[in-house]
Amino acid sequence: MKPPMLSASDALQRLLENAKSVQEHELVKTQDALGRVLARDLISQVDVPPLDNTAMDGYAIRCADLVQTDSLLKVDQRIPAGSMGLPLKTGTAARIFTGAPIPLGADAVVMQEDCSSIAEGTQVQVNINPQKGQWIRRRGEDLSAGKIALSAGTFLRAPQLGVVASAGYAELLVKRQVRVAAFFTGDELSLPGEALKPGGIYNSNRDTLLACLRSLGCVATDLGIVPDRLDATRDALRQASSKHDLIITSGGVSVGEEDHIKPAVSAEGRLDLWQIAIKPGKPLAFGAVRREENGEAWFMGLPGNPVSSFVTFLLFVRPFILRLQGRHDISPHSFQVRADFDWPKPDRRNEFLRVKVNPSGGLDLFPNQSSGVLTSAAWGDGLLNCPAGQGFKQGDLVSYIPFTSLLS
Ligand code: AMP
Ligand code: MG
Repeated sequence: MKPPMLSASDALQRLLENAKSVQEHELVKTQDALGRVLARDLISQVDVPPLDNTAMDGYAIRCADLVQTDSLLKVDQRIPAGSMGLPLKTGTAARIFTGAPIPLGADAVVMQEDCSSIAEGTQVQVNINPQKGQWIRRRGEDLSAGKIALSAGTFLRAPQLGVVASAGYAELLVKRQVRVAAFFTGDELSLPGEALKPGGIYNSNRDTLLACLRSLGCVATDLGIVPDRLDATRDALRQASSKHDLIITSGGVSVGEEDHIKPAVSAEGRLDLWQIAIKPGKPLAFGAVRREENGEAWFMGLPGNPVSSFVTFLLFVRPFILRLQGRHDISPHSFQVRADFDWPKPDRRNEFLRVKVNPSGGLDLFPNQSSGVLTSAAWGDGLLNCPAGQGFKQGDLVSYIPFTSLLS
């Protein structure tokens, strides 16, 4: 019987119904948390900024004083960042520097470029008509003590780690990393650095897929090349299921005589073989493999063609992994961008073209879109998501997904 043909969104929905976040978490230092996922809401310990402070170097003043004094004020205090000033006396200004607390009674800061310093800095002439509140950063406008600074499920990139530090934490609770085992089927494959067999090719999927896994913050185990034999494939699956959440493979998911993934996974667990109406891609195997110790590891079998395995990883394995990680944002960002080429003969399947943003902000197409031509993805910086049967013309807006948003 022919396996069912699914749309990309139906396939994704089915996958995600299964994926549940890992439950274990661990305490790590903030510096070690890059690429990890926050396990609990992080509550700020402090107000940030801790007090109203100045956003500029200049003078803290009380606006009402300018009327009586013809905008000429006595300067009787100096407040650098890290020190507390005294309450502002009537008719005076405080020399103040970025980050310093606003003295009591001041209601605006005038930046030094808008003032003239007089009598060796003991007086200041204010040359503008300031607005109340100008250049004052309010206490707690960034973070409030006792409130959520970052919510559970946040993926920790550079700015999030800075927020963790602002909120007063040197360490934080993160989900344990998702553990993924990968192996690569095909008697034609050799490892780079080794001699090629006659008619052989190098295993490029290993480096592409392991790098994808690392970009997503997984712990990846490489189980190497597995020959096109049922017993070898079953052995590899048993080894891979132990201590891993997910097994991914490349190749052998068609239903030819040399394709052993389907019978091997069926024997070691359970499997659905899907035909997904996408190009490149199409066959995707999804199931689970029993673990000797307990439970089962998820299984996703990707096609062997290098572009197909890369694209199906980005579209299906990535969101599945993000769910296992407990991340709340799992949809990649897509943008409406102008196509700078015609696409008159669309495929009947939903096609993901390798494209690149050109200097004028439009999309260029890599000329060879074959699923075996991996240089298309290395040249490109993203995928153009072309719906089934919908051609477009140069100048039309199309949906573009950058690789950067698919690899993090
Ligand atoms: P398969 O899905 O096993 O039928 O393989 C489809 C195509 O992808 C064949 O041309 C294979 O030689 C190629 N292929 C399979 N695995 C890899 C790999 N790990 N690296 C590069 N090409 C591969
Ligand atoms: Mg093969």
